[in-house]
Amino acid sequence: MTPPGGAAAPLYLDYQATTPVDDRVFEAMRPYFREHFGNAASTTHAFGWRADAAVTLAREQVADALGATSPEQVIFTSGATESNNLALLGSAEARRRRGRHLISVATEHPSVLDPLGALAERGFDVTLLPVGPDGVLDPEVLRGALRPDTLLVSVMAANNEIGVLQPIESLAAIAREAGALVHCDAAQAVTKVPFDVSALGVDLVSVSAHKCYGPKGVGALWVRAPRVRPAPLLFGGGHEAGLRPGTLPVPLLVGMGAAFEIGSALREHEAATLVKLRTQLLARLREGLGDAIAVNGDLERRLPGNLNLRVAGIDATLLVSALSDVALSVGSACASATPQPSHVLKALGLPDAALRGSFRVGLGRDTDAQTIDRAASRLLEEIDLLRRAAPAGTLRDRPDLASAGNVE
Ligand code: PMP
Repeated sequence: MTPPGGAAAPLYLDYQATTPVDDRVFEAMRPYFREHFGNAASTTHAFGWRADAAVTLAREQVADALGATSPEQVIFTSGATESNNLALLGSAEARRRRGRHLISVATEHPSVLDPLGALAERGFDVTLLPVGPDGVLDPEVLRGALRPDTLLVSVMAANNEIGVLQPIESLAAIAREAGALVHCDAAQAVTKVPFDVSALGVDLVSVSAHKCYGPKGVGALWVRAPRVRPAPLLFGGGHEAGLRPGTLPVPLLVGMGAAFEIGSALREHEAATLVKLRTQLLARLREGLGDAIAVNGDLERRLPGNLNLRVAGIDATLLVSALSDVALSVGSACASATPQPSHVLKALGLPDAALRGSFRVGLGRDTDAQTIDRAASRLLEEIDLLRRAAPAGTLRDRPDLASAGNVE
């Protein structure tokens, strides 16, 4: 695969934000922009048939990657944001007779938390469960929160900031026992860790193509059965079994199908490589920084390509901007004027100084040992400069930074 960005580009270590389109995926998509440009809904000519056949294949590829029993369960959307909105808003609408209570988790993605906020404003009752200092939701905490009127439980498979994997199978069993639907945002998990909808016992699953080397702007909601169908949010030409109208973006769907197929085939090998590289990076940083560096969230129960680190005595926003040659992210959504500390790291119970010192490293398909070596050297260099610049006795060497919430 061609390294993203070319020779002079910064090292890319932000694979949870997005991934480059895999060369094979790009080649699969290419003919569908021009030669095979037909509308998959055109039933009267070969252009339409060709497009429809491509969509059928993509639906099968996505279904296979999810362990689904039927491709018809896959509803294509514009991405996981839309899938999450459809699952939550649509289920609340479809199941209002069952109740007005929904449960989710404090560390979810904004595309889950914000629709839940909108539902709360419309009179639904929303419970957000806490996680432990390791980032994991205890199934017993879910059990305690379920009510007879709970219509849906939404828990992500893998967190986008700290990479922590939730025990979906146990959580789903408890929720279903109580009669609630189970939605899972698997945008970061699919093709990265084992994820099989049949084995997990979930009802609705959101996925996205651009997190696994497919194109941006396309995703899917997997819907187990007609009985658990959400109400549609959009109305139009009846596409996607009436759940999501709109002309299908055939090239994007072809890309998503190819990306899911390739990702599933490579998963085990890729995961082993990424864990090795991640271990190498962590070892280098620990060698240079000792106890001043710690991992946020459980290190083992985690996406293979994720590290979320905190360094005592630094402001991570200064670190990532100083590292113009390494693309990293701070786990915080920066509103224009006021940087907001990450709600995920806050949910781990980290003190403010630790939140300030935290950043995310995302490894992926193009990461190699050389990239890790170079990134480790640059990180150590810039961290050293920042730590020297920090006035003694302020942020530096505070024991709470090195120990609080350290769950490795
Ligand atoms: N959920 C999670 C866990 C994510 O990481 C993301 C992307 N950051 C989304 C949902 C939204 O996905 P999309 O970009 O496809 O809308």
